[in-house]
Amino acid sequence: MMSVRLYNTMTQQKEEFIPREEGKVAMYTCGPTVYNYFHVGNGRMLVVFDMIRRYLLYKGYDVTYVQNFTDIDDKIIARGLEEGMDPLELAEKYIEEYFKDAEALNIMPATVHPKATEHVPEMIEIIKGLEEQGLAYAVDGDVYFAVDKLPNYGKLSRRSLEDLQAGARVEVEEQKRNPLDFALWKKAKPGEPSWNSPWGPGRPGWHIECSAMSLKYLGAGFDIHGGGGDLVFPHHENEIAQSEGYLHGETFARYWMHNAFLTVNQEKMSKSLGNFFTVREILEHFPGEVIRFYLLSTHYRSPLDFDDENLRMAQKSLERLQTSIRLADEALGRKGQGEVGEESKQKLKNAALEARQEFEKAMDDDCNSALAYASMFELGKAINSYLQSFPYYSEELKFARTTLWELGDCLGFDLAKSASQAPKDNGKLEEVIELLIEVRAKARQKKDWEMSDLIRDRLKDLGIILEDTPQGARWTIKN
Ligand code: AMP
Ligand code: ZN
Repeated sequence: MMSVRLYNTMTQQKEEFIPREEGKVAMYTCGPTVYNYFHVGNGRMLVVFDMIRRYLLYKGYDVTYVQNFTDIDDKIIARGLEEGMDPLELAEKYIEEYFKDAEALNIMPATVHPKATEHVPEMIEIIKGLEEQGLAYAVDGDVYFAVDKLPNYGKLSRRSLEDLQAGARVEVEEQKRNPLDFALWKKAKPGEPSWNSPWGPGRPGWHIECSAMSLKYLGAGFDIHGGGGDLVFPHHENEIAQSEGYLHGETFARYWMHNAFLTVNQEKMSKSLGNFFTVREILEHFPGEVIRFYLLSTHYRSPLDFDDENLRMAQKSLERLQTSIRLADEALGRKGQGEVGEESKQKLKNAALEARQEFEKAMDDDCNSALAYASMFELGKAINSYLQSFPYYSEELKFARTTLWELGDCLGFDLAKSASQAPKDNGKLEEVIELLIEVRAKARQKKDWEMSDLIRDRLKDLGIILEDTPQGARWTIKN
């Protein structure tokens, strides 16, 4: 079997993936900070790493996947204050909500979902170790990591300490010896959740959480560390500094993988910019598998722009695959009448073999799910054209149908389940709605408001909501 090549941010190239231990993969990703429902941008990161994990499983690896929850942090505390809710309870609530949306996107639960608040003793252990080595210093209840004590700080983001210092904002934080030093432990402020420590009551900094939780569950030198591209600096750089400092220079993680952003008008979707849509909201308009299909429709290292039109296109594409499976299943239930040449059967079988080969080639090359889709569409087309002349049972049809289903399954789609739920309208419903919108637009041009309103109201009775925008009418189906 061909090996997988993965792009490693550390070396800035694709490398053959060779795990630490044969047949096993140890993987860690930085999970959400839980003070809200997660947005589709976070969803991209979650779905991308779920896809990578599933492909490694497909290749026969035994994968241990750890994804943390940051359940204590400035933003959680601020949000708790706003809502008059205990921050830890607030975090707990959004952890529960996380699992609902993750399930809708068919994201497999991690092997372990550690919470930061349950690993404070492990974090304190690491900070103590760093202090003993002179890599950390305490000032009045706070503890900082001393970046200039580490020879290769900046190796992941490829920035030298000098460059970083030149670009650093000069903050009036006299406590720090170097403006780039970062907090390992933060002294408790009144009213905030806190834990006891050798430096007094306080709470951990964000970066140390991930070092402690990944090392606890995966050990030093684990295989893949992932997250969104925004985490390269400073978060992952700091995780490396602390962990490798603590491990006396031993490698912390071997392959660093980062997904590109989900953008809105070319800008990163983010909570702080306020340009975000939660997965929960989108689920009111599109099924989870459509959102997932859309999120994997572009290679994970290329930016992906978010809009309704792209989602609708993804829905159509996914439905095409579902329809091929459904039509194949219907045909498989019919005993053969009429003749089909051996040649057509062989052609279909070869199309299936080729699709799997192309699929694996695409996925082996840094998990190119966009290209993997192309191989599935090819096979879908081959099935459809075969069915036109022979819509009955054959071994070859069964083989092609199973292949297509398995490729979908590898990426986290159950093409058969969704197909049976899909309306049996041959995908014509959308076209009929578009047609009615066109007729209504004509009526409006003629100022026939009665007709225009009739169309809108009758569609509304059916749960199809029209909304007039400057770009024309948009529609959604309420379930
Ligand atoms: P956060 O809750 O902001 O800590 O983010 C959780 C994860 O989602 C991190 O791995 C981020 O890098 C990732 N992430 C956040 N925003 C985006 C975005 N717009 N596109 C892709 N990934 C993102
Ligand atoms: Zn992290």
